[in-house]
Amino acid sequence: MKRALVLVDLQNDFMPSGRLPVPKGDEVLPIAQELMRGFELVVATQDWHPPDHLSFAAQHPGKQPGETIELEGLAQVLWPEHCVQGSPGAELAGGLDFGPVKAIFRKGTDRNVDSYSAFFGNGRRQTTGLQFFLSGLGATEVYVLGLALDYCVKATALDARALGFETRVFRAACRAVNACAGDDERALEEMSAAGIEIR
Ligand SMILES: [Zn+2]
Repeated sequence: MKRALVLVDLQNDFMPSGRLPVPKGDEVLPIAQELMRGFELVVATQDWHPPDHLSFAAQHPGKQPGETIELEGLAQVLWPEHCVQGSPGAELAGGLDFGPVKAIFRKGTDRNVDSYSAFFGNGRRQTTGLQFFLSGLGATEVYVLGLALDYCVKATALDARALGFETRVFRAACRAVNACAGDDERALEEMSAAGIEIR
């Protein structure tokens, strides 16, 4: 059994001073740093959008962040502009030593498709290659932490499980957007129901 740790979207824009702050998102950084020490195989994701990405409310006149539209046949929540390719906000969070990270998987790079999961674009129409990277290195267990619990962590863990990896989520190393109160608890229930261990 080989274990892999997936750090989800530990990026400046999701920190309290960023453009799409996840409440208390910075609190996960020291926990992530500590957890990294226990893994030989660590990978990170990076939300990495073109400036005109269609998940940005600003691309849809009259729409506000938080509203939902249909995009390429999928429900799409609109967000403030965030993690624009090459911007400081898109960089991995300052203050963390990402030295142990063996590879970074960028997602949301296609203007028309958002990507919450580290494995696939929404609707599973594209792959990031992470599945093949992990399985190619013999990983059978995937541990997930990061931001945000109720979006990208959840989507990543559900896909990992669906792809056949033993999957665990480090609850203490995740924070949620909680656009609706209780989204964090509902995400945890959904993951548990799918056979993901929450620790
Ligand atoms: Zn994004």
